[in-house]
Amino acid sequence: MLIKDITVLNSNMEPLEHRNVVVKDGRFDSIGVDVVEKDPEMVIDGKNKLLMPGFYNTHCHVPMTLTRGLGEGLSLNDWLTKKMFPFEGNMTEEDCYYGALLGAMELMAGGCVSISDMYFHVQDIARALYDAGMKANICHGLSSSDPHERPESLKGWRNTVSLLNEYRDKKDGRIRIDMGLHAEYTSTDNLVQAVAAFAKEQGLTVHTHISETKKEHEECKLRHGGLTPVQYFYERGMFENPVLAAHCVWLEERDKEIMRERKATVSHCISSNLKLGSGVAPISSYLDEGIRVVVATDGAASNNNLNVMEEIHLASLAAKGAFLDPTLLPPQTVLEMATVNGAEAQGREDCGVIETGKKADFIILDLDKPHLIPKHDILANVVYSAQASDIYMTVIDGRVVYKEGEFLTIDRERVQYEADRRVKRICSQMQGM
Ligand SMILES: [Zn+2]
Repeated sequence: MLIKDITVLNSNMEPLEHRNVVVKDGRFDSIGVDVVEKDPEMVIDGKNKLLMPGFYNTHCHVPMTLTRGLGEGLSLNDWLTKKMFPFEGNMTEEDCYYGALLGAMELMAGGCVSISDMYFHVQDIARALYDAGMKANICHGLSSSDPHERPESLKGWRNTVSLLNEYRDKKDGRIRIDMGLHAEYTSTDNLVQAVAAFAKEQGLTVHTHISETKKEHEECKLRHGGLTPVQYFYERGMFENPVLAAHCVWLEERDKEIMRERKATVSHCISSNLKLGSGVAPISSYLDEGIRVVVATDGAASNNNLNVMEEIHLASLAAKGAFLDPTLLPPQTVLEMATVNGAEAQGREDCGVIETGKKADFIILDLDKPHLIPKHDILANVVYSAQASDIYMTVIDGRVVYKEGEFLTIDRERVQYEADRRVKRICSQMQGM
């Protein structure tokens, strides 16, 4: 593939104009003013376009696309117990497969190349995202309320083990498996310790939810002699592993020390935190303390879309507004959070930047739009002015998965039909309960 005369965001997030880019065998083969490719399979005219890294969405529950807009306006408790849990209780493996494909289309059209997902029926989610051509770190969000339950006997545990057997050595490495622990308030000591030990033995990242709401954070301290969720997990050995922690709205000083020392990652889900009234995580202070922070959409139930461009826009605005400082989270910072830092948090060192030799995960934005003129500051235009609909094309490992409104790996009409049909069935089953 040859992309001609395009502006490229390099690894320092500097826009370099009039570059030619050659992509070969899934990687950036060469980038420069004069580079050419003989007989390319595809030529893209890059005039008035920007080539930049794709987005790495580090916390999602992708089949929850099927619950988008369900039970809006209820209290958190009614929403969960009367709508979400009964709906999820009726979701089959195939429902999750189609929910994941529906999400994959939205993600790819929004420039997302990879997600870290936590849900159930994980085999089917992995299959959907693999079929879609995406990258994904998959985990089952393990939970348990019985202190005597053997963690290894949980269905989600057994599914994690079989996913490891199925995907660990798959050659292209697009699907990675993480260990998933839903949260402190949905687990037992026994489960937390078993997750920590298994992740260590297998060399896995632990993906979990931490301190999303003040209530959860304070109740954990009451349950565990003053220990916050981070401190409790630390005492149980979980931070012996790389930890990907969604939310982290309410971290305390000692929590921040642990996160920094143990090189853990905060996955910032600003839309979800605002919509559920959870608060605004002080991300800037986490970054100042040397904690890695990345960006995520969370699931479509609490967002209600899977649009990473909206997340970086809101993350930047929310930080400035909530902490009364317009210099916080500038465009370059949020773009790095959503690209190279996200890739690293997923254990993907070979992508996330536009550089010769790296895996070719990238998007092309069409800059020939009224709202993207003039070009005083391209990064500011991308973060504050651009829309996901400005994305011309999304490429994962050198393969075009989305271009000009068309999905090249997914039958859009079929998936939308299946999603609709399945949601109708689940809702009628809920009424019968
Ligand atoms: Zn979540």
